[in-house]
Amino acid sequence: MYFNNNTLVFLDGNYVKADQAVCSVYAQSLHYGYAAFEGIRSYSTPAGTRIFKAKEHYERLHYSCRSVGLPLAYSVEELTDFTYQLLEQNNLTEAYIRPLVYAGEPNMGIKAPATSNVFIAAWEWGKYLGNQCLRLMVSPYERPNPRAVPIEAKIAGHYANSIIASSDAKNKGYDEALLLDMNGFVAEGPGSNFFYEKNGELHTAPAGSILKGITRNTVIELAQASGIKVHERFFTPEELNEAEGAFLTGTAAEVVGVSSIGEHVFRNPFENTIGAVLAAKYSALVTGRATSPVLTH
Ligand code: PMP
Repeated sequence: MYFNNNTLVFLDGNYVKADQAVCSVYAQSLHYGYAAFEGIRSYSTPAGTRIFKAKEHYERLHYSCRSVGLPLAYSVEELTDFTYQLLEQNNLTEAYIRPLVYAGEPNMGIKAPATSNVFIAAWEWGKYLGNQCLRLMVSPYERPNPRAVPIEAKIAGHYANSIIASSDAKNKGYDEALLLDMNGFVAEGPGSNFFYEKNGELHTAPAGSILKGITRNTVIELAQASGIKVHERFFTPEELNEAEGAFLTGTAAEVVGVSSIGEHVFRNPFENTIGAVLAAKYSALVTGRATSPVLTH
């Protein structure tokens, strides 16, 4: 699914066959989850293949690496160029792109390395979490404490928490988990940000205990441009009982509706919510069909 015999990946400055891009089992990153990554999408637009917000994603990759002391040898511009070349070499237009900066040298120490490796892969990937509205469950697992790890960085090790929470929700018959922060406020999904709607306004967790999603920012801009108020504030899971609709946002998931949270089932179908309007606007924007002059790639 991710690659076949002809797939090329970017590895440390070269484009190599995917099955030849290998990593030592003694690699420091493998043992300690010490790596930074991104999730990016490209779309087919009237102007050709366009990577949506490449600059923002690669700036966040630099930020993530800096946050944990992981060297990154390439600039935002270089990484963007490598990615466009990768798409071209693999004949991809609508792709999910996964850059990974990792410590690949055999090293069982727990000190930041002097060098790192850079891997970029791309493949066709449908909407993560699907097109159906999701039944969420407030997870018993909290997001990592921002005083213990740089939670605004996209660090591989943080995703052990995501996998545990998401698997737990699925094992209990739900589609996805909704995680609280260490103070008991609603934070985000395991791989997406969360918004709820009440009285025609949106509410989402503020920066500080979430990964500040690039999709989240885009959706906030789209909402504000349409005159919809967005409150970035702390709120408890109990407040969700008053919610009239909700959705998750993320590069992989895009904008996906929520039909229920625990026992609370939304009466209004997702199609009639602000989330559905924003999902359509998001889709128009990323595929270059938006009419708004302010929001471009
Ligand atoms: N929160 C978490 C924990 C995530 O993994 C992601 C996916 N990167 C997001 C939010 C959404 O971020 P973005 O919109 O930048 O993809």
